[in-house]
Amino acid sequence: MERVLITGAAGFLGSHLCDKFLNEGFEVIGMDNFITGSVKNIAHLSGHPHFKFIEHDVTQYIDIDEKLDYVLHFASPASPIDYLRIPIQTLKVGSLGTHNVLGLAKAKNARVLIASTSEVYGDPLVHPQAEEYYGNVNPIGPRGVYDEAKRFQEAMTMAYHNFHGVDTRIVRIFNTYGPRMRLNDGRVIPAFMGQILRGEDLTVFGDGSQTRSFCYIDDQVEGIYKLLFSDYHLPVNIGNPEEISILDFAKEIIALTNGKSKIVFKDLPVNDPMQRCPDISKAKNILGWEPKIDRKTGMQQTFAYFQSLTDEELYDTQYKNFDKYIKK
Ligand code: NAD
Ligand code: UDP
Repeated sequence: MERVLITGAAGFLGSHLCDKFLNEGFEVIGMDNFITGSVKNIAHLSGHPHFKFIEHDVTQYIDIDEKLDYVLHFASPASPIDYLRIPIQTLKVGSLGTHNVLGLAKAKNARVLIASTSEVYGDPLVHPQAEEYYGNVNPIGPRGVYDEAKRFQEAMTMAYHNFHGVDTRIVRIFNTYGPRMRLNDGRVIPAFMGQILRGEDLTVFGDGSQTRSFCYIDDQVEGIYKLLFSDYHLPVNIGNPEEISILDFAKEIIALTNGKSKIVFKDLPVNDPMQRCPDISKAKNILGWEPKIDRKTGMQQTFAYFQSLTDEELYDTQYKNFDKYIKK
């Protein structure tokens, strides 16, 4: 059996990737330090004969005895409020963590796929965003800790590819959603759905004219899987190009869930990108991939997941793990 190490395994994307690789017949080693993830996301894998979990902070040297065929590096806070609360950990996991992951892949002669992001394009000046666009990032703004860590991560990955000949892949992930997102992670879908379930008003930031394009988790996982098994080492956008303004999206979610909530407007966060939509020509042409799940279906499945949470989870608006793992 081939073996894959997945960092960030207890997170939203990482846990779905663990499921995918186990279903495809791989041995999976999941690694996480639970700073933004949850043991609940991988609890169903406990006792699985081909799954092993290691609690570890990837910014520290990664020691794996077994042979590895693939490494998927997904460890990193991903939500703006997460990386604003833990900015230094965010910079470290994108830089030191990526260095460790690439060093491990080199030592094991494994293929490595790195999770990058549409945030490398910053608040983009071209639209939609194709991989050739260099981006418009404010390095010292609040989002800089995430954006620059991810840009460094891409540079480091290309250096390991070009200098050491490591077999690398880079996926630029656009807003992805689905079951196992943390309800209180501040991202727009859990935020709006949590507000509906608690009977609160929906908080639209700014005037809501900023746009996003939302990709369902199953489509995202399929795109990542295809990229890993392609022979293309330059970055590839994976996302859903169907774009919507945040205000229309809030109305859509209220209608879809028969919610009674109203919409209230709050300040737009600093450097919040005004437009985001992937150009997925490369994914279509090189990987033969495009998203299949429409927003209505994906949202219904996601809402059903949030409805299944306990009251304690629904009202846990302060994420306890931050206090547990952060030493000031
Ligand atoms: P998430 O917060 O649910 O998962 C991240 C996981 O990484 C968590 O389980 C967390 O505990 C773990 N982690 C963080 N720092 C770590 C460290 N130092 N050592 C070990 N584990 C650590 O977020 P997600 O949405 O699943 O994002 C996963 C990856 O995908 C991230 O790299 C993120 O940048 C990227 N990404 C996600 C999206 C999206 O829309 N979900 C978009 C762009 C990029
Ligand atoms: N947003 C909002 N209300 C919320 C949370 C987010 O209007 O309660 C907006 C946010 O300002 C951004 C968009 O929704 O324009 C997507 O935010 P998210 O945090 O999900 O991710 P981003 O794409 O900004 O990284």
